[in-house]
Parts: sequence; structure tokens; C-alpha cells
Amino acid sequence: MYDPLIDDSLAGNSPYPNSYWADVAGTAPEDDGQLNKDITVDVAIIGAGYTGLSTALHLAREHGIKATVLEANRTAWGASGRNAGFILKSSGRKSYASMQSQWGEEVMRGIYNEMCAGVETVKDFISEGINCDPQDNGYIRVAHKPGMLKSLLATATLQKQMFGYDVQELTREQLHQDYMADHNAYGAIRYQDGFGINPLKLAWGYQKLAREAGVTIHCDSPVDNWHQESSSKPGQQSKTTQILHTPNGIVKAKKVVIATNGYSAKNFHPLIKSKSLPVLSQIIVTQPLTQEQIAACNFLTSNVIMDTRALKYYYRKLPDNRILFGGRGAITGKNATDPYYANRLLAVLKTNFPALSSLRYDYAWSGWLCMSLDDMPHVYQNEQQSVFYAMGYCGSGVSFSVQAGKRLAEKVAGVTVPNLPIYQTPLVTFPFAPLRRVGQWGYFQYGKVKDRWL
Ligand SMILES: Cc1cc2nc3c(=O)[nH]c(=O)nc-3n(C[C@H](O)[C@H](O)[C@H](O)COP(=O)(O)OP(=O)(O)OC[C@H]3O[C@@H](n4cnc5c(N)ncnc54)[C@H](O)[C@@H]3O)c2cc1C
Repeated sequence: MYDPLIDDSLAGNSPYPNSYWADVAGTAPEDDGQLNKDITVDVAIIGAGYTGLSTALHLAREHGIKATVLEANRTAWGASGRNAGFILKSSGRKSYASMQSQWGEEVMRGIYNEMCAGVETVKDFISEGINCDPQDNGYIRVAHKPGMLKSLLATATLQKQMFGYDVQELTREQLHQDYMADHNAYGAIRYQDGFGINPLKLAWGYQKLAREAGVTIHCDSPVDNWHQESSSKPGQQSKTTQILHTPNGIVKAKKVVIATNGYSAKNFHPLIKSKSLPVLSQIIVTQPLTQEQIAACNFLTSNVIMDTRALKYYYRKLPDNRILFGGRGAITGKNATDPYYANRLLAVLKTNFPALSSLRYDYAWSGWLCMSLDDMPHVYQNEQQSVFYAMGYCGSGVSFSVQAGKRLAEKVAGVTVPNLPIYQTPLVTFPFAPLRRVGQWGYFQYGKVKDRWL
């Protein structure tokens, strides 16, 4: 499997992974095919995931700029077509308490508002007719140890106080009786407003809306070389043009948006070099549960669920009664398809629900998350305002990437965006960048110890 820390470039025209989403999503909407001639455009966007599509859609609808999107493979071939489909009011991994102590209450609230706006924007797009199988509202965070319930309850109290956020507290018994009998859950908190969708259908819906708004989307068009040309006429400021090479056509653009997130190849562009850590997340989707199996573990809910481990597990019951179960995957792309990682998830699922001991999985796949050093996403640009990016969602980007795309479009159009660190500061460079994987391995070891013993 492609490894962004090892490979110099992403090969084009790969099929979707063998995911449940690709199996049930039906037929992809039309795109504009491979780029097969040289073109000159105002704005080129690299990557047709949520970030790229949202930027293109907002540019077209709100600023009258009809961008050209270049995608190496297919729409949402990256994380946008592989994720668990949890729509949550969050992104990054930094807690609101830590934002408050670092930046103060006003900034913390500003970031919270942007996270909320992301969910609202996704809902608005869905209401335009995107059929992406939304499930019932509700996001459950389960305490994987008795001690963790205390910290969940403290979070709930803080969120109620700070944001008036409606957070329900559930004892182990209430959880088992009303939602599902997860044997490793010692109580939970439940937000009323997260929900699950089919992520690939969502992306295809954005693609359709974007093309209707005048956006051009070239799939099978990997940007495999990029340079910049400057020209100056006497008495005028020098102009730079971005030159993007794809296998069968060159794009000359005044402005370029990098929307490649965890799939950005290691030396893709100096603006993002060594500024993120791609980490694999693995998902399995089981066989459909029988009515007896559902009854045996009282799996009533289709809310989205995540636990409190440092190395988190996340799961949900899908519309056809299968369970989607996810957690960390391999460290390198080379090992990504080793069945060990899918089997490890299945084993954990069975400890959560011992009644499912004979269950097998029908689908297994993984995808690259994009971790940032400061645990926050960043939407930023170069000094010349000619190259822009939004990335670093740290595994939580289904809704916020759409808000990031909206803000990115504003930046490209020269409109002022909110004065928040996520929009006004660049991604931080990793110190000792070649050793990022060693750091990841160390974190996994620490996480294992913490989740078990601390
Ligand atoms: C297994 C998994 C589970 C997840 N679950 C959730 C979840 O439940 N909820 C949540 O909020 N977030 C989740 N996430 C994170 C979320 O999916 C991402 O944050 C989000 O999809 C990022 O979207 P994006 O458009 O920025 O990047 P991507 O969707 O990764 O798109 C990047 C695109 O760029 C293309 N590309 C790369 N290089 C080039 C090039 N040189 N030329 C042309 N194209 C190029 C790639 O082919 C790819 O399609 C999950 C991620 C994974 C992997």
C-alpha cells in the first residue's frame, strides 16, 4: 500500500479499496475524466476528498471562482471514502480545556463555533438531496475503565457549563439496558448530536453539487511534478505561475490548493514538508448480525461510539445490522494489508460482546490519518498567497474538513477569515522529522501500557 512517508509520489488510477462503503454506495457520479491536455486556470485544487471538494464548492457558490480539481485516483479515494462516517462537532485532538489555558476563552469558543459550523454545513449539504444514509442522532463515549468514567463526567460538566452542550450521563446499567451491552464499558456520556453516514456517498454528493456549480474534476490525474515560474514586465510586479504536471496534461494556475491531507507524498511541496505524521487507521465490517445476536448483546443503538483509550476503538451498527469496528492499524504501508490488524480488531470486538464469539468480518481496509504536532488542523498559505492548504485533522475531519474548505475558499478569494490559531498559524514542523515513525511506535507502546494499567 502507498506509504506517504516512503513513496515519492502517489500512483494514479487505483480502484477504491475493498471497503463496505464502496460495495454499497452504488454507481459513482460522473466526473470530467483524466486531464488529457494542457490547461491554464485561476485555481487548481489537488485532491478530491472532502477538503478539496468543499473548497471547490464554496469557491464556486460564494466567490464565483470555478476551480479545477485534480485527483490522482477517484473522488474520495483517500480518507474521505474510507472513514467510519462519524459526524462530530470536533477536529484535532486538543481538548477545549487545553485550548482555554493556551489561548483564552474567546479563542476556545471561536474554535468550538467553527466545529459546530462544520456539522451544520454538512447537514445543509445533505438536505440539498445527498443520500448518504444518515443514522439516528447520538454520539456515545464509553469509559473503558471505571476510573475513566470520572473524567468523562468532568468533561460533560465542563461542556454543559461552557457551551450549554446537552450531554447525558449514563451508568453502566443504563448503557447496557438502553443502548448496547458492551462488557468493556463502565458507563458513558452521550451527546445528542453526532451521527453516522456513508462517507463515500457523502463525498459523491459533494462532487455532484460541485460540478453543478461549475467545478471541473479530473480523476486519474496525479500531480507528479510541481514547479513555479516567475515573469516580470517592466514597471509591473513580478507574477508567479504554478505549473502542475500530470501524466497527460500540464496545469498552469495562479493559485493552488493542497487538499491531500494524510495522502501527501513526502516531498510534495516545501510548504507542508515534515509538518504532519500519516498514521494508519484500520476498519473491519462484520457479517450482518442475526436478530438473536442483536438480542444477545442488546445492540439497540445505531449511535456512533468511541471509547476513552489512548489508542481508541470506535464502532457503530450499520443500517443492515453489521458492526463497523475501527482502531489503530499497521505502522507502515508495507504491512497495511496484513490480516493481523483486522483480526486484532475482531478479537477486541468479541471481548466487548462475548455473545458474538462466532462472528466473522466481511470487509477490512485501512486509510491514512493526518496527525499534526500541535494536535490541531491548520488552514494556511504561503507569503505570496499563491499556495494554500488545509490539513492535520488528526482522524477527525468528516465535518470540519468541510468548514476548512469554506475558510480555504475565503482565503483564496482574498476574504478575511476568523482570527483563530487554526486559520492564522501554519502547521508546526516535526523536530527530528525522519524519526516520526519511531515516535509513533513509542506512543503506541505508551498507549498500550496506559490503557491497560494506568
Ligand atoms: C480509517 C479512517 C477512519 C476515520 N474515521 C473518521 C470519522 O469517523 N469521523 C471523522 O470526523 N473523521 C474520520 N477520519 C478522518 C477523515 O476521514 C479525514 O479527516 C478526511 O476525510 C480528510 O479529508 P481530505 O479531503 O482532507 O483528505 P483525503 O480524503 O485523504 O483526500 C486526499 C486526496 O488527495 C489525493 N492526492 C494525494 N496526492 C495527490 C497528488 N499528488 N495528485 C492528485 N491527488 C492527490 C488522494 O488520492 C486523496 O483522494 C477517518 C480516517 C480514516 C483513514
